[in-house]
Amino acid sequence: MWKYFLPTRVFAGRQVISQNGELLKEFGTKAFIVTGKSSAKKSGALDEVLRMLEALDIPSSIFDEVEENPSFFTVEKGGRLLSENECDFVIAIGGGSPLDAGKAISAVGMNGCSCEDLYRGKNLPSHPIVAIPTTSGTGSEVTQYSVLTNADGQKKGFGMPSIFPAISFLDPRYTVTMPLDVTIATALDALSHSLEGEVVNKGQNPLLKTLSREANRLIKDSLDRILLDEDDIDLRERMQFAATLAGIVIAHTGTTAVHAAGYPLSSFKNVKHGMANALILVEIFKKIAEADKDRISAAIDPFESLDELQIFIQRFISGRIFLRISDEEINEWSDYTSKASHLKKTPGDFDKEFFMDLYRRINNI
Ligand code: NAP
Ligand code: FE
Repeated sequence: MWKYFLPTRVFAGRQVISQNGELLKEFGTKAFIVTGKSSAKKSGALDEVLRMLEALDIPSSIFDEVEENPSFFTVEKGGRLLSENECDFVIAIGGGSPLDAGKAISAVGMNGCSCEDLYRGKNLPSHPIVAIPTTSGTGSEVTQYSVLTNADGQKKGFGMPSIFPAISFLDPRYTVTMPLDVTIATALDALSHSLEGEVVNKGQNPLLKTLSREANRLIKDSLDRILLDEDDIDLRERMQFAATLAGIVIAHTGTTAVHAAGYPLSSFKNVKHGMANALILVEIFKKIAEADKDRISAAIDPFESLDELQIFIQRFISGRIFLRISDEEINEWSDYTSKASHLKKTPGDFDKEFFMDLYRRINNI
């Protein structure tokens, strides 16, 4: 038996907003536009959204303060402004950070609650969310997840059905302006979702297996080529498609110890999320393989071995990550990570000692 559920309507292709933007009328009467500092403008997406809203006579307020690894503080500020400006739907434009923040702002604004309240396991109602990604990585455009950073600097994800975007507009043109390191990090995040999702799925849901294998294949075949020609819109479109497929996979499966162990590297050492996953993925998969070798060899298809996967990843991350982690940090992070809920889905014995050893091994590279 298998199940599939995705309430998000996805529209994909070049000029997708100018051709389908009138659908925005369905979601409310005043839009709260959530973006990062510059990507919505640089990508051209913000201009196209504003033009469409003007044509539809829908007023809007812009909140452009979302930082990488969005904080509780920013989300709560956004939620207050959404209410004060009497907006009734959210348009989130950007990478995973503005998309995740937009989802959380929508819920906080609707309920007048704190971010902590989003983590209590209830499906609080949210205003409708329109997602317009400018990176090809997180899959946030098709998931019910949002990953935020609390006042102690810890990254934590939450999920609620109400924050699935109502609609996502995927235009590959918006991803062309990504800096090279963001292109690489986000592609490796998508690969990580696809691989981790299939480790959880174990082939049981044949639809997810198909999506995961196809996402792996697209990323394996395209990433090198994008780096040779960053303006190639066909390749950008393939990568955007792969990231969305992988997002659909994790919407059903969640992620594993790879994501849990990568979070402190982003929160405390500014390592981009996808780079953090990529740095530790094969180490964690080797440990899973000790418990269930077949599961790993099936999940990494069409990579033939973990060695091949490691060589592929290494090419992109080599020389791009610089880490210095103190003994105290290793101890704290390992303690925290060894209690993460992701471990319930990760076969193998992932105790504190394992993570201490992992963080020591990646230190000073
Ligand atoms: P991001 O943090 O949204 O953006 C990284 C950087 O790239 C920012 O400086 C951003 O600029 C810039 N940028 C993005 N798109 C650009 C474009 N088209 N042109 C120029 N610059 C661009 O990166 P991300 O990797 O997409 O998102 C990472 C976040 O998503 C993490 O917090 C991660 O934990 C989360 N995540 C969520 C899920 C989920 O299911 N919800 C899954 C995995 C990861 P601006 O600051 O100007 O925007
Ligand atoms: Fe991720």
